[in-house]
Amino acid sequence: MLKKKYHGLGLFSGGLDSILALKLIQRQGLNILGIHFYSPFFGAPEKIDYWEKLYGLELLGVDISKEYLSMLLGNVKHGLGKVLNPCVDCKILMLKKVKKMLSMYGASFIVSGEVLGQRPMSQRRDTLFLILKEAGVSDILLRPLTALNLPSTRVEDLGLVDRQKLLGIKGRGRKAQLELARQLGLEEIPSPAGGCLLTDPEMGKRYLMLISKISSPLSIDFLLCKVGRQFWWGNKWLIIGRNKEDNESLIKLSSSEDIILKIKDFPGPLGLARKGTNWSKEDLTLAASFLLVFAPKVRQSGHTEFGVLFLREKESTEVCAGLKNRKDFFWKEPEWDEKKKKLLLRSV
Ligand code: SF4
Repeated sequence: MLKKKYHGLGLFSGGLDSILALKLIQRQGLNILGIHFYSPFFGAPEKIDYWEKLYGLELLGVDISKEYLSMLLGNVKHGLGKVLNPCVDCKILMLKKVKKMLSMYGASFIVSGEVLGQRPMSQRRDTLFLILKEAGVSDILLRPLTALNLPSTRVEDLGLVDRQKLLGIKGRGRKAQLELARQLGLEEIPSPAGGCLLTDPEMGKRYLMLISKISSPLSIDFLLCKVGRQFWWGNKWLIIGRNKEDNESLIKLSSSEDIILKIKDFPGPLGLARKGTNWSKEDLTLAASFLLVFAPKVRQSGHTEFGVLFLREKESTEVCAGLKNRKDFFWKEPEWDEKKKKLLLRSV
C-alpha cells in the first residue's frame, strides 16, 4: 500500500515543546507526521491514539531500542548528562533515523522542538549546530520555536515554510511556551520534556548496575530494571515484586530461562531469578528465604518455614525456605557509582 505523503516529519516526544513545534508548522497548512521514538528508556507508544485525538496530530510510533542500546553501550561520543542521558548522541541518532524516513513519506524537511539555551547539554548554540552537522540535516532541520535565533533554513528560503510565522523563543523559561499552548487551544499541557528514565537518578543506579554486571544487556533487561525491588549478589540478579502490578510485569517480561519464585499457600511478592548466570539449588533456596523477608503475611503467620515454588516454563519444583532477617543476606540494592559511569564512556 502506498504511504500517505507529508510535507515534513517531526520528532514527537510527547513533551510540550514537540507538540508546539508540530502545531506551529501544521498551522501553516502543511502536513506533518510526528515520529514518536520509543525504547526501554522513553516513549509511550500506547498513548499515540490518545495524543492524536487530543492534539489533532498524525503520529507514528517507531521502536528505536536496538540502535539506541548499541549507541548507549558502546558509542556515546558527546558525553552523558547528570545521570546516564546521552542527549547529544540521542538527538543525532533520532535525526539520522528520521532523515532516512523522509523519502518514504515524500517529505522534504524535519521539525524538532528544541529551544536555544533551554537545556544545558543539548540545546546550547554550539551543540545545536554540532547536532545539525553530525546528523547531516543542516539544510533540512527546522526548529520552529527558536528559528528566529538561528540562520534560515532551505525550506524557509524556498518559501515552503513562512519564516515570519516562526518564533524566537530562547532560554530556560516556560512562559512563552505556555502562552503559545493557550493560543493554540491545547486542552492538556504535558511536562516540558517527554520523560526519559536515563535522567532519573534512581533508574540510573539500576541501569549502571546492570551494565556493569552483564556484558551485552538486552532491551528486555532494561525493561526489567523498572520493575519492583532490585538486588544483586555477584552476577546474580534477583527482582522482587512490590505489588500485584510488579508481579504481573515479572511474569510478562520473564523468559523461558528465568526462574519465577512463588511462596506457596501465602499471598506475597513474586521473585525473578534472572538467567545469565548459574543458579545452584543452594543459591535459589537462599533467594527463596530472602523473598520471605518481603512478605508481611508470611512474617505475621507465626511459622518459621515455608514452601517456595521455582517455576520455569512448565516445570515446578519446591523447596523449604526458612524465615531470616534482612541483615542475614548478602543481596545488595544498586548504588550510584561515578567510576562505573566513566567506564561506560570509556567503552567507546
Ligand atoms: S533526555 Fe533522554 S530522550 Fe531526551 S534527548 Fe536526552 S537521552 Fe534523549
